[in-house]
Amino acid sequence: MNVDSIRNGYVIDHITAGSGMKLYELLGLDALDVSIAIIKNVTSRKMGRKDIIKIDADIPIDLDIIGFVDPGATVNIIKDDKLAEKKTIEMPETLHGVIRCKNPRCITSTEQELPQVFRLTDRENKVYRCVYCETKAQF
Ligand code: ZN
Repeated sequence: MNVDSIRNGYVIDHITAGSGMKLYELLGLDALDVSIAIIKNVTSRKMGRKDIIKIDADIPIDLDIIGFVDPGATVNIIKDDKLAEKKTIEMPETLHGVIRCKNPRCITSTEQELPQVFRLTDRENKVYRCVYCETKAQF
């Protein structure tokens, strides 16, 4: 894979340096059989350092996960070698089935079939809390 040329896929840019791997994991990209490049600690005039993820495949991407991990990231959708669309990323109000609650006394640790739901409770500080036990999201 030539990391500079993506025919159809995504370039997730302006990821906070160090968050690229976490985003890769939460997006479930490790489970996919497609060409992916994670470029870490790229020099950026705007940010100092940043990570970039390039996905050379037209697969569904959950923008909510990107908004949760790094709302400052930008998503460029590439079609036929050209930039087709730039997506604005926003922090989702709720996050479904992405991360698990870490509280061992949370009802979701005994009732495994309950959906894992977190709600944005503090937009300024990017705080998400479990809707069942109010535990702060960690990832
Ligand atoms: Zn909980």
